[in-house]
Amino acid sequence: MERHILVVLPHPDDESFGIAGTLAMHLNNGTPVTYACLTLGEMGRNMGIPPFATRVTLPEIRKQELEASCRAIGIKDLRMLGFHDKMIEFEDQELLDSSIGALIEELDPSLVITFYPGYAVHPDHDACGEAVVRTIAGLPEAKRPKVHCVAFSRDHEQAIGRPDVENDIRDFLKQKMSSIQAHRSQFQAAELLGKKKHTDKELQARFGKEHFWTYRFE
Ligand SMILES: [Zn+2]
Repeated sequence: MERHILVVLPHPDDESFGIAGTLAMHLNNGTPVTYACLTLGEMGRNMGIPPFATRVTLPEIRKQELEASCRAIGIKDLRMLGFHDKMIEFEDQELLDSSIGALIEELDPSLVITFYPGYAVHPDHDACGEAVVRTIAGLPEAKRPKVHCVAFSRDHEQAIGRPDVENDIRDFLKQKMSSIQAHRSQFQAAELLGKKKHTDKELQARFGKEHFWTYRFE
């Protein structure tokens, strides 16, 4: 069992597909979870179908969706760090690292969850994972929390192998689907919004497992 889990991801909705079930599972075991979301995804191009957001209202809408997603998962400690969407790779590295470092210092997590640097498709995802790994690598070895990374670039298994952590989250599909559905402006496929009926078996096959790579520090 973990002491405290810190999740560091750049965008509202990054928590939904890959890790919501794992977080719900840990919360159900009584492990506290803090989610640090670097941006509000305010540069996103999806405005809902039919559109209900505008360039002006999108940040507030995505903030509310993020809060709803956290409620669905059971996360009570959400930190919105206020960095700029699509700009993480250009942010002041010292500021980024010190923000993450301050959270680690405050919370003393036994596990940190983030994206696998270099294998997470979007530049913000990679830059977020890099900042987490860089910050933790800078700690004395005995003080480093474990790091579990999410990877999904096309070639990732050739480079980093198979994931070493597989969580069966079938008991927490309800929380996960509610988290996905909370991001109404972003996920428009009818099946994700619950408009298309799926059998439990289909949902379990598609969403019932979550995979992580334990980051190996040199
Ligand atoms: Zn993202």
